[in-house]
Amino acid sequence: MKIICIGRNYSDHAKELNNEVPQEPVIFLKPHTALLQKGKDFYYPDFSKDIHYECELVVKISRNGKHIQEKFAHKYYGQATVGIDFTARDLQQKQKEKGLPWEIAKAFDNSAVVGDFITLKDAQTIANTQFHLLKNGEKVQQGNAADMIFNIDKIIAYVSQFFSLNTGDLLFTGTPKGVGSIQLGDKLEGYWEAQKCFELLVK
Ligand code: ZN
Repeated sequence: MKIICIGRNYSDHAKELNNEVPQEPVIFLKPHTALLQKGKDFYYPDFSKDIHYECELVVKISRNGKHIQEKFAHKYYGQATVGIDFTARDLQQKQKEKGLPWEIAKAFDNSAVVGDFITLKDAQTIANTQFHLLKNGEKVQQGNAADMIFNIDKIIAYVSQFFSLNTGDLLFTGTPKGVGSIQLGDKLEGYWEAQKCFELLVK
């Protein structure tokens, strides 16, 4: 199983980090060891002083495929949820300045939170999904899949040119604006519309 992530997929977030709005999707991977086990809390890692949450829609791949055409991409997923792409923003900033890869800032252990999956009735079910993140009960991030620069079918078509997709792979679809730091003791809760998909503490 692999975790494929999209960067800068909402123009308002690209702007908040002073990044250009991309012409093609920005892709990075997390290994399976990045997955936070269900129901576990997040332990703040020693190597960073500025871990950020990025609340994102996460799609589960349901069939093997490569070179998938956009018009057929909807056949490759049937479940989705809300998750967090935890990011060591201080390390990422250093890597970006040097033009180096992001993995140490993005792909570390437990950096991928995945909520309980929701079965999609059809591709339209996800196209206008509202999602949000509560930090200590306060809404800190909110997005709508309709605001993605590259929608899920476009992402699948693009990504599958380079990487074969396998059943069970996870696709993090990018974060809307509102990313921010976490502190010890924070409680984070992710919502798909009004439905809570995950809850965790920062320890
Ligand atoms: Zn992200």
